[in-house]
Amino acid sequence: MTGPDGTPYATAVIVAAGRGERFGRPAKVLEVAGGRPLLVWSVMAATRARCVRDLVIVTGEHTDEAIRSLVETMWLEKSVLIVPGGPRRQDSVAAGVAAVDGNSEVVLIHDGARPLASTPLFERCAGAARMTGAAIVAIPVPDTLKRVEDLAIRETVSRNGLWAAQTPQGFRRDLIRAAIARSHIMDNEFTDEASLLEMLGHPVRIVPGERTNIKVTHPEDLELIDALLWRRSRQAEE
Ligand code: C5P
Repeated sequence: MTGPDGTPYATAVIVAAGRGERFGRPAKVLEVAGGRPLLVWSVMAATRARCVRDLVIVTGEHTDEAIRSLVETMWLEKSVLIVPGGPRRQDSVAAGVAAVDGNSEVVLIHDGARPLASTPLFERCAGAARMTGAAIVAIPVPDTLKRVEDLAIRETVSRNGLWAAQTPQGFRRDLIRAAIARSHIMDNEFTDEASLLEMLGHPVRIVPGERTNIKVTHPEDLELIDALLWRRSRQAEE
């Protein structure tokens, strides 16, 4: 999906500067699944989206050198800018968005640790963001939810209308820049970018996501994602 004159209009910002605290090893995005580092899968899926003009990859001090070498070996058709991130995810996102050039109308923010997001998902998210200003990929919550304190259930939370946010999350560039500027003043903790827009009172559209678009958070997620990626590779060969 491209613009009306056939030109790509989005920049994908892939955040890869985390320290894998819950995962237990710092260079989480460089862990291998399906025979390749997680980041390679995420970057490939974004690069193949026709709406994507270029990419910004946000790295940490501990991963910068390895990611630069990795990206060189990928011979990507689209240009990639690599910039340093920050201590919190939102700092890394802010650094990535600040590096997006003014020719991009839409910014697609994606977790480097989500290797299974498909290229059509990037396209759908970008298209909706272009139309509405802000659109994120999410899936309906399947489980019964409990609010728990000290291993005791305090209440059952109705899952009616509850969706789990994933990435990519797409925004018109001017809108996400304004939201980030505002968040710097408030200095709250934001775990995704949609919350920034919600804070500004801007509506955020949901793009139905993919159940397999899992984020590697804990070590066992890697085993599951490894199996899913190998299955996808086999299906592509059939
Ligand atoms: O820690 P978590 O799994 O939520 O991180 C999601 C994504 O955000 C990962 O790809 C991680 O590398 C990135 N991140 C970042 N900078 C941080 C923290 C997380 O780029 N300071």
